[in-house]
Amino acid sequence: MPIIYKCPGCGSAMEFNSQTQKIGCPSCGMQLDVEEYEKNYKSYETEESETQESSKTDTEGMKIYHCSTCGAELVADQYTSATFCSFCGNPTLMQDRLQGSFQPSTIIPFKIDKNKAVDIYKSWCKKGPLTPGELSKQSTIEKISGIYVPFWLYNYSAGTSMHANAEKVRTTRKGDTEYTYTDHFQVYRDVSAIFERIPADASEKMPDDAMDKLEPYNYADMTQFAMPYLSGYLSERYNYTADQMQERATDRANKYITEIARSTITGYSNVTVLSNNIRMNPKGSEYALLPVWMLNYRFKNKNFQFMLNGQTGKIVADRPISKGKAFAFGIGIFAVTLIITMFGGLLFI
Ligand SMILES: [Zn+2]
Ligand SMILES: [Zn+2]
Repeated sequence: MPIIYKCPGCGSAMEFNSQTQKIGCPSCGMQLDVEEYEKNYKSYETEESETQESSKTDTEGMKIYHCSTCGAELVADQYTSATFCSFCGNPTLMQDRLQGSFQPSTIIPFKIDKNKAVDIYKSWCKKGPLTPGELSKQSTIEKISGIYVPFWLYNYSAGTSMHANAEKVRTTRKGDTEYTYTDHFQVYRDVSAIFERIPADASEKMPDDAMDKLEPYNYADMTQFAMPYLSGYLSERYNYTADQMQERATDRANKYITEIARSTITGYSNVTVLSNNIRMNPKGSEYALLPVWMLNYRFKNKNFQFMLNGQTGKIVADRPISKGKAFAFGIGIFAVTLIITMFGGLLFI
């Protein structure tokens, strides 16, 4: 059931404005709070969509709708939840993919608008080693799209007991003789941590590694989901359930708790980890939509992808990038509460 947020002032289709963080009318300039619109004008748009809506399911997972403004046919695949009428360009939401089990609980609204995204893209083109030509053509730039990507955010109560052998080596010199002393230590760490909102994208179309690199998102801007935020952007409902993506998040949580424990063992010349007994208890998940600007293009017969974190402006694009950064240890990605028990005993041999 497609819906359009119509301006109560002039009847034009309204779009979420990332600068004012309100839903705005491009024609008359009216700006309304998202909650205010939902509260006061909801019946207005629902009525509109119910009388004009006519949808039929097509084969191969595509659905055909009729635009509630111009009546043109609107083809959307089964996952699309926010799109545009290809005829009149009005932003259109697929209500049924945003309700029930598909209703996101939270959203980070776009902070970077299209103009800014284009600016960032253009300066990125200039800096690159590739000949810009094709990349910076207006027809290429026009294709940049703002997408709300479905994510699952997982919480964990985690811990690990780590045993390690460590050495401290020091040398002294007496006359012409150099003495090397090696002290051996038995090191024990018990670390408990609470991880909140470890993200895993739930969209089949989005490459997982690129999505990971777009992090971190700043959760301070996260707000309760409301449909008007999607107006003027593309969005999809999740392809994978929270259960299906859990393993990916657990792998990350395991890596993080190990890194945290290991990072507390410092001041030694050598450290050999003997055992790392991880305790990992999942504490639920939430369905969230996070903003991404995306541009696909071809260059020398190859497909490239330019992506931009729609909140922070961080760029992830197909160009030689430093690989080491892909899985940088990320405190600050999510909230972490730590309890650390440390024990370092000198071993006499
Ligand atoms: Zn208006
Ligand atoms: Zn239309």
